[in-house]
Amino acid sequence: MGQMTTDVLTLQGPSILQGEIRKEDLWDTVRAQLDEVADALNIEPGIRAILSRAERELMVAVPVVMDDGRIEVFNGYRVQHSSARGPCKGGIRYAQAVDLNEVRALAMLMSWKCAVVGIPYGGAKGGVQCDPAQMSQAELSRLTRRFTAAIMPILGPKRDIPAPDMNTNAQTMAWMADTVSMLEGKAVMEIVTGKPIALGGSLGRKEATGRGIALVTAELLKRKRKRLNATTVAVQGYGNVGSHAATILQQMGCRIIAVSDVSGGLYNPEGLDANQLNQHVAANPKHLLDGYEAPGVEHISNDDLLLTDADVLIPAALEHQIRADNAPHIRASMVVEGANGPTTREGDEILNERGVIVVPDVLANAGGVIVSYLEWVQDLQNFFWEEAEVNRTLKNLMVRAFAEVWDFSRQKQVPLRKGALMLAVQRVTDAIQSRGIFP
Ligand code: NAD
Repeated sequence: MGQMTTDVLTLQGPSILQGEIRKEDLWDTVRAQLDEVADALNIEPGIRAILSRAERELMVAVPVVMDDGRIEVFNGYRVQHSSARGPCKGGIRYAQAVDLNEVRALAMLMSWKCAVVGIPYGGAKGGVQCDPAQMSQAELSRLTRRFTAAIMPILGPKRDIPAPDMNTNAQTMAWMADTVSMLEGKAVMEIVTGKPIALGGSLGRKEATGRGIALVTAELLKRKRKRLNATTVAVQGYGNVGSHAATILQQMGCRIIAVSDVSGGLYNPEGLDANQLNQHVAANPKHLLDGYEAPGVEHISNDDLLLTDADVLIPAALEHQIRADNAPHIRASMVVEGANGPTTREGDEILNERGVIVVPDVLANAGGVIVSYLEWVQDLQNFFWEEAEVNRTLKNLMVRAFAEVWDFSRQKQVPLRKGALMLAVQRVTDAIQSRGIFP
């Protein structure tokens, strides 16, 4: 088909793009967070101005021939917030809510996440505004390939390396890697991470985010002098992140007393068996907990799940689940954020006032991007590691990052979220200052 893509490559900040701005929430939140942290760190105004906007924002129109022959044109985005610490890294999401502000906000959060865990990347994010549930695999393949071709000028293994995010997966990454490889006439599998193992994906990537959550939970319990086998856990969202976090925490000795997904929640104070739950979800055509029955198991709502008497609450589904209305009633003494942005600012303040310890998303769910980093390292070397090696390196990096955030937060007497963001913003600032301003 002819060249129908209209690329708008802009180096400008948000002000000139008002026409595109529909959702203020998350972008406002992350900028307010940055302001607060920059104040605490006394960051000079010039550096603040650099940090508070994205380095590069690409908006593309993505024409796709649908199965019925119609052409539909989708809005696509790739935003690179900062490359100060290394090539940009961040997922691609497919959802109707995707817009420029959401992608900008998520790109900024990726800069902080990579800096918190000390991996040599800057932050990026991308997405296409679409409803993947209404599209066939063939349509999704064509969408992915055309979107990849449209954003390819700013991608590259040393420029910007996408990964899966909401509603995208290893198959999406395989299509992206294939598209770039076909267009360049050579294998460029290291252009994306989160690929299938057969194409240079890493062992351990699928479980990595859940494993990271389990590792930081164990580190937190150590600091609280609480034994793993005396700890109860509730997990909201039994998808990739939640199910692996629950399974690995159970292996470590914790009792999983509540889980939920979009179909509802399950509660058993004596403990649910994560292995049985996994078998049920795998066998269920919709991959849901729906229909699970076992002695002692009560059915509860998702709202109830957040308020159970578990020691540790892991929100691993959606954003904005812990808010001003339910934060006063949360009974867990520890919250480990599996999802991105599961706690609103008001919710966070209430939890802090009540002495509930929150391990923030930028630290708690960084296991995924860490193993993405290990995948990229393996791809660049064309040498692949045993799963045990991947898991050992993930553990070393998570344990180190948790200790740094914990010690820094105690020293500054701030909650872990503020401590993590202060460390991250300082690291990105140091990188900008060491490089100097070009030219
Ligand atoms: P997923 O699609 O595999 O799982 C999401 C789960 O949440 C599903 O079980 C779904 O049924 C459930 N859910 C949806 N709506 C719900 C509701 N209203 N109440 C309760 N449960 C609900 O997605 P995932 O990959 O596990 O990601 C979950 C969260 O973790 C997202 O916020 C994502 O951005 C974040 N995250 C994921 C990764 C990763 O590596 N997968 C890495 C970092 C952060």
